[in-house]
Amino acid sequence: MTDTFVVVGGDAAGMSAASKAKRDHPDLEVVVFEKGEWVSYGACGMPYYVEGTVADLDELISLTPEEIIEDRDIDLRRFHEVVAVDTVARTVTVRNEDGTFEQGYDHLLLATGAAPTTPPVEGVDLDCVFTLSSLDDAEGIREALEAEEVTEDLVGSSEGAVVQFIRDRDPKRVAVVGGGYIGLEMADVLRTRGCSVHLFQRSDHVLSHYDEDVATVVEEHLREHGVTLHLGSAVEGIEGDAAGDAEAVVAEDGRTEVDMVVLGTGVRPRTALAEEAGIDLGPTGAIATDEYRETSAPDVYAAGDCAEAVNVVTGEVDYVPLALTANRHGRAVGQTVAGTPTLAGGVARTAISMVVEMEVARTGITDEDEAREYGFDPVSRTVTTKSRSGYYPGSEPITVHMTACRRTGRLLGASIAGTDRAGKRIDTVAAALHEEATVAELERYDLAYAPPFSPVWDPVLTAAKVLN
Ligand code: FAD
Repeated sequence: MTDTFVVVGGDAAGMSAASKAKRDHPDLEVVVFEKGEWVSYGACGMPYYVEGTVADLDELISLTPEEIIEDRDIDLRRFHEVVAVDTVARTVTVRNEDGTFEQGYDHLLLATGAAPTTPPVEGVDLDCVFTLSSLDDAEGIREALEAEEVTEDLVGSSEGAVVQFIRDRDPKRVAVVGGGYIGLEMADVLRTRGCSVHLFQRSDHVLSHYDEDVATVVEEHLREHGVTLHLGSAVEGIEGDAAGDAEAVVAEDGRTEVDMVVLGTGVRPRTALAEEAGIDLGPTGAIATDEYRETSAPDVYAAGDCAEAVNVVTGEVDYVPLALTANRHGRAVGQTVAGTPTLAGGVARTAISMVVEMEVARTGITDEDEAREYGFDPVSRTVTTKSRSGYYPGSEPITVHMTACRRTGRLLGASIAGTDRAGKRIDTVAAALHEEATVAELERYDLAYAPPFSPVWDPVLTAAKVLN
């Protein structure tokens, strides 16, 4: 009899696992349950849909349901929510519009993702207060932005005329709550759409997972481009008007009138199914797994934003809800289930964002207090050099902050900001972290050089030189 592989969640981790398992083991019966309409979508592209750079939501879809079912021979069931797991009977309970039923499994993957958190204040349920977690959220924000923008006399006009009309109107006043990468990307795209943007951040700097030096560079850049920063100003409430629409944000620094609020205050792993099934969570609150992504229940795996991973710098478990990890870990589970046990690999917290044409990226650990908590003896340096040879046109400043352990010389992390191809330079540092390189070894890396691309010493090498 063929084995059945059941996947809960039809996005990055779930579809990567399902596709890989089916490809490697075509006889395997692969069933994917997705509670919503959308599957195999690029959540990372949602800000650009709100911006308008991505015109249509369908463009964010990697594989259509038809391709998944017909080309990949995967039994995809949308609008099917898994509501319980019985790890002894090896069944899941599934709810759809007709009621509930049981589905048996030989292997099960929990790929339920993460849910947005909202601040514990009044007013988060008002109309015109949004989170950005699903394609439906993205659609809602774009519709709200466009609601009053297109007047009757423009119906039937060309798209260009509508866009020009939008730009000429009084700007909408938008509050973005949260200065993490989603908050900053949203501040950027809303500004591009002509909104006047107020960004509220509880701590004293945006990008709280970054070091202060790079965060400060980003803050100056945001201010220069018209974003009003409310730093060290926790939001205490959102006030509504008589119609129930958001009208003002009340924060520690006062009351700001707005037309719309976007919450980017973080995510938490969706673990309810696992918890109720008696599956262990780890210290981060996400689902605990071994190096093959198997949970405390035999043949039950967890991958993506609902699960923990091991940090390559600290060797400890970490929670880093990012897309490559979800795809990579999902794929590894698929390969394991298909018969080839495959290590999923660790995470280095490598992340990159575009903030008003400034590329901002980080990897590893650059917060010295955190590094000390893990037993390192951290030392950091910040250098600002050029993106290309000084004489070559288009050269712009790049700021690199790098941290190492003074005792061992081991590289611990870096962050980078700059407007000229700064961001992907972080990948060199990420690769060095995976190799547990010292900062002296990084300094000796043979990186490519020609004047249009970098100075002879790439900014990453210069930072390593200064730190070494
Ligand atoms: P998800 O994509 O959340 O998918 C989980 C799926 O499971 C959902 O479709 C959900 O409906 C379904 N589900 C949940 N519970 C059940 C159930 N009980 N039954 C059936 N189905 C269920 N990452 C980056 O690396 N780079 C970026 O630039 C980036 N940008 C982002 C921008 C935004 C606005 C957002 C929200 C995220 C961004 N991310 C980015 C994060 C990235 O999107 C996630 O890490 C990735 O989508 C995680 O994939 P996943 O499969 O684990 O979870």
